[in-house]
Amino acid sequence: MKDLNQGLFDRAKKVIPGGVNSPVRAFKAVGGCPKFITHAKGAYFWDANDQRFIDFIGSWGPMILGHGDERVLQAVQKAALEGFSFGAPTEREIELAEMLIRLTPSMEMVRLVSSGTEAAMSSIRLARGATGRQKIIKFEGCYHGHADALLVKAGSGLATFGNPTSAGVPPEVVKDTLVLEYNNLEQLKEAFELHGQEIACVMIEPIAGNMNFVRASVPFMALCRELCTRHHALLVFDEVMSGCRVALGSAQSVYQKSIPGFEPDMTVMGKVIGGGMPLAAFGGKRAVMEQLAPLGPVYQAGTLSGNPVATACGIATLSAISQPGFFEALSQKTQALTQGLVQSAKRHGIPFSADCEGGMFGFFLLPELPQNYPQVMKSNSDQFNRFYHGMLSQGVYFAPALYEAGFVSAAHTAKDIQDTVDAADQVFKSL
Ligand SMILES: *Cc1c(COP(=O)(O)O)cnc(C)c1O
Repeated sequence: MKDLNQGLFDRAKKVIPGGVNSPVRAFKAVGGCPKFITHAKGAYFWDANDQRFIDFIGSWGPMILGHGDERVLQAVQKAALEGFSFGAPTEREIELAEMLIRLTPSMEMVRLVSSGTEAAMSSIRLARGATGRQKIIKFEGCYHGHADALLVKAGSGLATFGNPTSAGVPPEVVKDTLVLEYNNLEQLKEAFELHGQEIACVMIEPIAGNMNFVRASVPFMALCRELCTRHHALLVFDEVMSGCRVALGSAQSVYQKSIPGFEPDMTVMGKVIGGGMPLAAFGGKRAVMEQLAPLGPVYQAGTLSGNPVATACGIATLSAISQPGFFEALSQKTQALTQGLVQSAKRHGIPFSADCEGGMFGFFLLPELPQNYPQVMKSNSDQFNRFYHGMLSQGVYFAPALYEAGFVSAAHTAKDIQDTVDAADQVFKSL
C-alpha cells in the first residue's frame, strides 16, 4: 500500500524547513516518516492512510479532555461566531484570569499571552525588571521555550555561564544565564554563594517534562525556595507542561503536600490552560505583576493576547477538569498504564522504569528512574527506537523521542490502556 504520509512529507519538505513547523514532529530522533494527522476524536487520531492511533501526546499536553470534547467544541463555536479577535478587552479574559488564580493561589494576578515561549520569556524580563538584577539560573534538561536567553547549555564550570544551544544566539545574550544540574543541591548552594546578590530568578520545571519525566526532589525544591527567599531572588515555576496536568493545582500543589506553605513567586502556564488553542499565561504576586506595562516599567504586549476564541476554549477546558473526581480518575488510568508497562517489561527481562503524576507520565529503558539530564541520556536510544516503531505499527502513538513525556486524557478508556499494555507486551517480547 502506498504510504500517503510519505507523499505529504515529501511535499511538505519543499515548502517548510524539514517539512514541519516544530522540530520534534519530524521523527528525526526515532527515524522514519512522520504521520500526517487528518482528524481526531476522543483518545484517537487518524493519519493520512486512515490508520488509527491511540494518542499519548495529546498535542504535547493540552488535550487533557481528549479530542473534540462536546463542551469545549460548543464554547469555541459560540465564541467564533461572536468574533475572532478585537484588540480590545473582553470579559472572557477576566473570567479565565479569575479561574487561574482560583486554581493556583500563589498567583494574585496573571497576564495572558499566546505561547509558553512568550510567557517564559516575559516572566524572565519581569523578574529582572522587578529585582533590578540580571542573572538567572536554569537547569540542564528543562525547556522554557525558545527565547534567546533560555537556549543555553551548561558551560565548563560553575563560575562560567552557559553556551548557546542554537546558532543565532549571541553569547552576550546568554552570558547572564547560569545552567545547573537538576536535583543537584551542592551546585545550587555554590551558585548562590558565588552570585547570590545578582540573581534575579531561578526558573525550573518542578516536574520536568522536557527530559522525559523527572521530578525535582523535595529537598531540592525546598532548597530552591530557601535560597531564593534568603537572597531576594524570585522562584519561577515553569508549569507550561505540568500546569493543570499533574493536578488541578499544578505541580506546586504536589510539593505543598511535602513542604507546608510552599509557593513559587511566579508561575508560567500554557498547554492545558488553552485546551489546544494558542494561549499561555504568567502570574505571580501583585507587587511583582504590577511592574508590567501599562502600570509599570516592564514592557510586554501581544496582538492576539487573551484571544476571545482561545479564552473560550481554555475556560471550557478548565471548567471540565475542575469537576469533582476528574484528576482521581485520570491519575488511576495513567498509573494503570505505567504499572502495566513496567510489569510487561519485567516479564521480558527488559530494564525499564516509569513514573507518573496526574495525567502525565514518562518511561525509561533504564532499571532506575533518572534524576537529571545526563542520567536520562543514558537511556538505550536504539532500544527505544525499536520499541517506539513497534508500538507505532500497532497503532499506539507515543512521543517520538526518548526525552519527551507522555500524556493520558480523560477520553482514554480502560480498554485503550489495556490495548496499549498488550501491544507493549508483544513489542517487549521482540526486543
Ligand atoms: C511547551 C513548553 C514551553 C513552550 O511553550 P510553547 O507554547 O511551545 O511556546 C515552555 N516551557 C515548558 C515547560 C514547556 O513544556
